[in-house]
Amino acid sequence: MSDSIDELFEAYRDYGRTAYLGEALSITDHMLQTAEAAERDGAPPALVAAALLHDVAYLLRRPADGAGDPDLDGRHAEIGFAFLSRRFVAAVAGPVGLHVAAKRYLCAVDPGYRAALSAASIRTLEVQGGPFDPAEVRAFEALPHARDAVRLRRWDDQGKVPGAPTPDLEHFRPILEAHLLGRAS
Ligand code: FE
Repeated sequence: MSDSIDELFEAYRDYGRTAYLGEALSITDHMLQTAEAAERDGAPPALVAAALLHDVAYLLRRPADGAGDPDLDGRHAEIGFAFLSRRFVAAVAGPVGLHVAAKRYLCAVDPGYRAALSAASIRTLEVQGGPFDPAEVRAFEALPHARDAVRLRRWDDQGKVPGAPTPDLEHFRPILEAHLLGRAS
């Protein structure tokens, strides 16, 4: 995939519209809903961009069945970070890189969190390493972008409602363009 937003959006409109992450909605609808939740919550624009991009690894790797590839499910945050950190500012790439760790963190510190996860998200938790232990919790909290990653994670979990209306991709184009490396004001 090239660096252009056009090619990125083409992947959202093509593969992303037809592939599922074990949920009852497409990858693209899931990411649009996550971005919409961030925007509704008053998130800063960089974090809205992170929400729209957080599962981009699935668009890059294009598994035949969306989720269900344990290796990709376990590493999609790192793969997304590697892609995004070459193209977008750290405030976008950083939270994406930690959004799976944030799930493991929340499972450890918030008793109600794990109970509310979707079935697919509970399944992938295991290949992602399970809940953090106390030392991992402390280490996570000390990382840059940890707090933003936790916010992103909660929007991610909300963004799984089949048929929920969202703005279209073009609504988010200015936010993405404003946070490309070398273009941030
Ligand atoms: Fe997600």
